[in-house]
Amino acid sequence: MSDGRTDCVVVGGGPSGLVLALLLARAGWQVTVVERGDGSGPPRGNVGPFVSPPNLRLLAGLGLADELAALGQPVRELVEHSADGDRFVLDYAAHTGDGPAHALSIPLWSLSHLLREELARQDTATVLLNSSVQSLVNGQGGVEVGLGGRTLNARFVVCSDGKFSEMRTLMDITADVFEFDRPMVMMLLSGRPEGWPERIAVHHTDSGALVAALPVAENKLAVQWLDDAAEFDAVRAQDVSGLCERITTVIPELTDPLTAVTHWDQVLTLRHHVVRPEVWSRGRVVLLGDAAHGVHSLGGQGLNMGIQDAVALGSLLVESGPTASTAPLIAYERLRRPYVEEFQRYQMSVRQLTSTAGAGARPIYKGVAEAMVHGQPQVAFRQRGVLAAAGRPGPEIPPLSVIDEE
Ligand SMILES: Cc1cc2nc3c(=O)[nH]c(=O)nc-3n(C[C@H](O)[C@H](O)[C@H](O)COP(=O)(O)OP(=O)(O)OC[C@H]3O[C@@H](n4cnc5c(N)ncnc54)[C@H](O)[C@@H]3O)c2cc1C
Repeated sequence: MSDGRTDCVVVGGGPSGLVLALLLARAGWQVTVVERGDGSGPPRGNVGPFVSPPNLRLLAGLGLADELAALGQPVRELVEHSADGDRFVLDYAAHTGDGPAHALSIPLWSLSHLLREELARQDTATVLLNSSVQSLVNGQGGVEVGLGGRTLNARFVVCSDGKFSEMRTLMDITADVFEFDRPMVMMLLSGRPEGWPERIAVHHTDSGALVAALPVAENKLAVQWLDDAAEFDAVRAQDVSGLCERITTVIPELTDPLTAVTHWDQVLTLRHHVVRPEVWSRGRVVLLGDAAHGVHSLGGQGLNMGIQDAVALGSLLVESGPTASTAPLIAYERLRRPYVEEFQRYQMSVRQLTSTAGAGARPIYKGVAEAMVHGQPQVAFRQRGVLAAAGRPGPEIPPLSVIDEE
């Protein structure tokens, strides 16, 4: 028996789904978020992704600027050092015009918690925790969503349940999954050395490894090492001091902080994937965020792409209204997919991330710099409209470019 009508069901209450839910609810849509977790902790490790300037502008437009500033760690530049001493510098202040002149690392759980709290203040939004979808029946005018003992009738269903989305399978959408074969190890060091700059430092070594130090939220320093699989296996088979030594050879300032790392269980090993579904929607059901497109962490765009999806889809849905056909979903895929896939192709062409790539470009961050600073321009221009619909128009977005035309 159907016992609930709603304009939109969002499956997966990670940041991408929550931002979309908030934009729709603020525009007067009835929205129900279905989240499998109990909301008490991070979905998987409390990583502190970097939210880029256009998305910070969006979140500020939604009234969350002060809370974010209190939680976050700004990063004002990225410096990539080649093995032979060249440097590529991405200076946010030089490229963001009147927007935030930095990216901001925010613990993933804190961001989701903040968005859920804001959603709870909206009369037209409901968040169902400890819930997941058992069945979907995609009809002409709507979708029947079975939650096990309860059915919701929605005009649209948005699946934002992460990279290995079960909803994708339920929709019968297959996805091409590419695994980067160079694993990344990461350590989160508590407390940074005094005076550590608000800067991401990336170093290439002579042997082709990458070592990076990233100041992240909660006064932590994320240290990453990425090398080929054989070298990783050799290092992993030994004491963790071998890993620390490889890092301090490149960044000697990390010698003291790394004395805190004495066991491999203090080290995360991350496998990154590019996920490319064959389509992004079926009927009135659509994919969003990592469910639509897993990416590598190079350039820190997973979360940012998800928020940009939410702006694009949210603005198209709001413009068309809840009784619209599937046209906004098709327009959303047309707008976002080429941009996202170009970004994914670039990542798969970087030799430092996968042995299947050719010679590859250097510096590697040059190819993701525009995305890191501006995101997709067509989406940035949609932000004002969707914020206006949410009752909070933002500033005009000036056209800018990070990379000078050569
Ligand atoms: C170490 C690391 C560093 C990163 N750094 C960055 C960075 O600097 N910048 C950046 O932009 N991105 C970064 N990312 C990526 C970013 O964390 C993800 O891209 C982002 O969390 C995706 O958000 P999402 O809402 O689409 O999916 P998720 O965060 O995966 O959320 C999915 C939600 O769906 C719920 N769910 C799952 N299945 C179901 C189901 N069947 N029913 C109901 N609910 C379900 C989950 O509980 C979860 O709450 C990083 C990731 C890692 C691991």
